[in-house]
Amino acid sequence: MECDVLVIGCGPAGLSAAGYAARAGYNVLAIDSLAPGGQLLYIDEIENYPGYEKVSGYALAENFEKQATSFGVKIEFWGALDIDKDGNLFKVKTTGEDITAKAVIFATGAAHRHLGCPGEEEYQGKGVSYCATCDGPFFKGKKIAVVGGGDTALTDALYLSKLGSEVHIIHRRNEFRGQKVLQDRVKAKDNIFLHLSCNVERINGDGKGVTSVSLTDGTELEVNAVFIFVGITPNSQLLEDFAEMSGGFVITDNHMRTTVPGLFAAGDVRTTPFRQVVTAAGDGAAAAHAADEYIQNLQ
Ligand code: NAP
Repeated sequence: MECDVLVIGCGPAGLSAAGYAARAGYNVLAIDSLAPGGQLLYIDEIENYPGYEKVSGYALAENFEKQATSFGVKIEFWGALDIDKDGNLFKVKTTGEDITAKAVIFATGAAHRHLGCPGEEEYQGKGVSYCATCDGPFFKGKKIAVVGGGDTALTDALYLSKLGSEVHIIHRRNEFRGQKVLQDRVKAKDNIFLHLSCNVERINGDGKGVTSVSLTDGTELEVNAVFIFVGITPNSQLLEDFAEMSGGFVITDNHMRTTVPGLFAAGDVRTTPFRQVVTAAGDGAAAAHAADEYIQNLQ
């Protein structure tokens, strides 16, 4: 299949890029092995995306998709397997058809990082979770542990405190990384308890589900669920040995240009100091604009 612009990844960055490029008159194909929306699909409620007082991640994802397709973007549920450049054309192998494109916008986002402690893998799906919206409702009235100190841990601890009887935030430092406004809200909740300067040593269970967590300070906390929010790992494997990276994140300039002419990166997968839905969408728009300039200069 041939297209002008191939967008890999259909989260906020990818769908924004695809919409901008299609609206500029290009034939745009956007691919993703999963449902469009990326990490939006894991967010219960978003209150800092401009123009919305409050919106669910799912609803915002649907709006991104509808808007992109209304501009003519074609979306396929294909995973990208390999990328190469032959002259001025990119050749991308996918789980569906092989694709030839003049420019590629890489917006594959990032995945949840794991803690790597004993019990984590064993109890995944039996109390260990990486998605509060998906699994929180299973633990109504129960005791819940949340691991991490960033925006995700704080936002999701607040959400889980509406469901669980107690939420215990376990964070390895004595200061949170997450925004101050979220820290203040967490501290104001009387069913959220903080365990600072310690980490999870092991997740314990009875074979069927989680029963407690052992902390590095010697505490054993009785909980039925452990939600792990210890950051993200970029989904950048496809570009290994193809574009330059830093710590696994794809290096770009302010125009979202990577070290390979015609290849742009946008959103959480690129080196950026601030990872939000709005910055991902902004990256997507900038990448589409840069791709437009690049393609025009090819002719
Ligand atoms: P993050 O900001 O990287 O925070 C990860 C947290 O996990 C940090 O507190 C870190 O501790 C801790 N951590 C990392 N490895 C650990 C380990 N092995 N054991 C224990 N703790 C560990 O990740 P995030 O919270 O998922 O956020 C990702 C990005 O999305 C951020 O840029 C964030 O701003 C953005 N985001 C924004 C919103 C919003 O605006 N509403 C919501 C969610 C996410 P240290 O602090 O000690 O490093």
